[in-house]
Amino acid sequence: MFGFLKQVGDYSRGAAAAAKGITQGLAVTFDHMRRRPVTVQYPYEKLIPSERYRGRIHFEFDKCIACEVCVRVCPINLPVVDWVMNKETRKKQLKNYSIDFGVCIFCGNCVEYCPTNCLSMTEEYELAAFDRHQLNFDNVALGRLPTSVTMDPSVQPLRELAYLPKGVMDPHGIPDEEGRAGELPQEVGADPSATRQHQ
Ligand code: SF4
Ligand code: SF4
Repeated sequence: MFGFLKQVGDYSRGAAAAAKGITQGLAVTFDHMRRRPVTVQYPYEKLIPSERYRGRIHFEFDKCIACEVCVRVCPINLPVVDWVMNKETRKKQLKNYSIDFGVCIFCGNCVEYCPTNCLSMTEEYELAAFDRHQLNFDNVALGRLPTSVTMDPSVQPLRELAYLPKGVMDPHGIPDEEGRAGELPQEVGADPSATRQHQ
């Protein structure tokens, strides 16, 4: 009799533990069913890159003086500066300029040190190609301005984490007037009494 009662007791405890585990699992499942998806439905939705995003480099041919500083500061001597000496002006004359984005590590050194500011980093990150040689951009390709996510009518721009209000993780359905958490890069270290302009 005692053995039977013990068996019943063990079985009851096991059943209660199993029910508790199932309830906890279902609670997590139902909790997630109530949440909106955080996943960005690329390419119909795209995140707006942050102000300091280091994407594809933009090059302005007319401003380049062929000094080759960008080559010297590049960790892999990547930019190819093709120039000839103009005997009349006795100055270097740029012929071609190229950067291979299949090799570039987007460190931004060339942009930082260019004396004429003819290089800049854009927000363009869609650089996938079937052939790696297509990633070798000449001065014409480098001179193309990037398409801004916010200006592209075919996509739904979404704020990335750095732009979201405090405590919000989901980029969907945020009203435009709702400010972002934290400070803009130009506000860091600025006078706190100055009016803060959020995005
Ligand atoms: S550092 Fe600037 S100006 Fe000099 S070669 Fe490079 S891109 Fe041209
Ligand atoms: S971003 Fe860096 S790796 Fe790429 S070309 Fe400029 S210096 Fe070289």
